[in-house]
Amino acid sequence: MSTFQSVSALLSDEAATLALGQRVAQLLPPVLQALEGRALCINLEGDLGAGKTTLTRGLLRSLGFAGTVKSPTYTLVESYQLHHSAPDGAPDSVPLPEQAEDWSQGERELFARELPALNALGQLEIYHFDLYRLQDPEELELMGIRDYFAQQALCLIEWPDRGQGILPEPDIVITLEHLDEGRRLTISSSVLTAEQLNFLADIKL
Ligand code: ADP
Ligand code: MG
Repeated sequence: MSTFQSVSALLSDEAATLALGQRVAQLLPPVLQALEGRALCINLEGDLGAGKTTLTRGLLRSLGFAGTVKSPTYTLVESYQLHHSAPDGAPDSVPLPEQAEDWSQGERELFARELPALNALGQLEIYHFDLYRLQDPEELELMGIRDYFAQQALCLIEWPDRGQGILPEPDIVITLEHLDEGRRLTISSSVLTAEQLNFLADIKL
């Protein structure tokens, strides 16, 4: 059994949840590299409306994805193939495309004029699961879920308890709980160092 360390913090508004996604994205290059070709598996725990998809959106935005990000409640999984989009020699960011018109206030505040380019990673497959409506974990076997985890990729999983017995052990568990003021964040992980965990929990806006 690997040992889990954990940290907690308060996320006082939507922008703080988006910023957490941004910080997770910043840790991806070294963390993915250490996994030597298998997927990084992040379980997102919390009730409906806790902010699991908001976190995912902040992560995707900070890797240069400007389009719609919502929970794949009916399709179970949404795939994002991200590529380095800035031309060689260009700054490490790309101007916002038109889709950014649909962004929330929090997204505008964080990613106001341009999006970072996917630099250190070059390209990355991200799979965003929402298992809320999953009837039977066996359905995951039928959709070939093992293939998603057997490659270099990032898997973000909402409602992972619905897939118990089929999903692999998570590398990182992020829990969001409703508070009167914002959300309580708890992160535990068997792959992150104490320093990396503290970096994630140190959200100042
Ligand atoms: P989930 O995917 O967990 O069901 P969503 O991310 O779809 O939740 O929705 C969360 C809602 O809560 C959104 O309206 C979002 O703006 C808001 N929200 C996200 N993070 C926070 C926060 N830290 N404090 C207050 N509201 C938040
Ligand atoms: Mg969701």
